[in-house]
Amino acid sequence: MNSVRKTYRIASIPGDGIGVEVTEQAIRVLKRLEQLLGTFTLDFHNYDWSSERYQKTGEYIPAGGLESLKNHDAIFFGAVGSPDVADHISLWGLILPIRKMLGQYVNVRPIRVLPGLSSPLKNCNTEDLDWVMIRENSEGEYAGQGGITHEKTEYAIANDIAVFTRRGIERTMRFAFETAASRPRKHLTMVTKSNAQRYGMVLWDNVFNELAPQYPEVKTDKMLVDAMTVRMVLNPPSLDTIVATNLHGDILSDLAAALAGSIGVAPSSNLNPTRRFPSMFEPIHGSAPDIAGRGVANPVGTFWCAAEMLAWLGEAKASQSLMEAVECVCAGGIKTKDVQGTANTLEVTEAVIRMLEMDL
Ligand code: ATP
Ligand code: MG
Repeated sequence: MNSVRKTYRIASIPGDGIGVEVTEQAIRVLKRLEQLLGTFTLDFHNYDWSSERYQKTGEYIPAGGLESLKNHDAIFFGAVGSPDVADHISLWGLILPIRKMLGQYVNVRPIRVLPGLSSPLKNCNTEDLDWVMIRENSEGEYAGQGGITHEKTEYAIANDIAVFTRRGIERTMRFAFETAASRPRKHLTMVTKSNAQRYGMVLWDNVFNELAPQYPEVKTDKMLVDAMTVRMVLNPPSLDTIVATNLHGDILSDLAAALAGSIGVAPSSNLNPTRRFPSMFEPIHGSAPDIAGRGVANPVGTFWCAAEMLAWLGEAKASQSLMEAVECVCAGGIKTKDVQGTANTLEVTEAVIRMLEMDL
């Protein structure tokens, strides 16, 4: 029987620091997987949008750049950030416009303790810590609204306005309910700070209360974000799917990644669930200037992103094979320093490639 070999156009944006190192290795792994399976082609197009480019040209994204991203099936992103550029400039120069302009309104972050890795929490194993964090990705505290008056004087007044819309909240929450319903434990926890913030956060509560009866199979509860940090540390098995605002989700998912072993192993998917525009896959870690250029960054978070991207594209077998290979390598003790190993980025990559070659 003839099967059609699909070709996916992937925009790769390695960005800065270790983003460049880990995406290069992940693309090597993906290209080997493509050869071994022979069922699809990944056609990568490289975009040199970085802080170095910003310093030379005054912009991260050139004119027409966002339009050209739309002409892809997915975006594979490394990290952005440089000690020479203020963080708010690099974030607003590159990653936030992509998320907003391409309608990537949910950010999905699976969190598990991979085999061979350990949580800093005592006696915490894979079964105890198996979460999906769903972060609202287009508005809220990162809406970019606000301003500053009397700047550079002693009378400076600055405000950042969090903007919440029913539409923005509802579409994220529906995604969260559907995700929870698809998981074995079918449990959704919604996080706010609605005791102290009395408008936007209360709208979150209200929309959540309205939607819950439409998903009777999903058990729900609500947490204030401060109490949530405590629950994540003291009672990980009580959580399953979590939905939170842009800011809260950002903070909680770094904590979650650390509890699962390291920020270097955690993936994230910026999804446009309508599929009108491409979704973007990026490790949750940043450019890590403190270790950049030394070849020691953990590439596992980016490999996991690659697996998430394959799954989103509909290549379930490839996604599963890649994740199994990554897990076997971690379980075999070939790990970077951040997860108590001695291997470097290249050694982990080559071990994953060897594992794929053995299995496929
Ligand atoms: P951003 O603002 O882009 O989120 P950040 O300031 O949160 O970045 P990261 O770049 O994520 O910071 O780094 C935080 C710490 O975690 C640093 O000490 C860094 O070296 C370490 N780290 C991050 N990613 C990795 C990785 N892949 N492997 C090993 N260590 C990492
Ligand atoms: Mg960070």
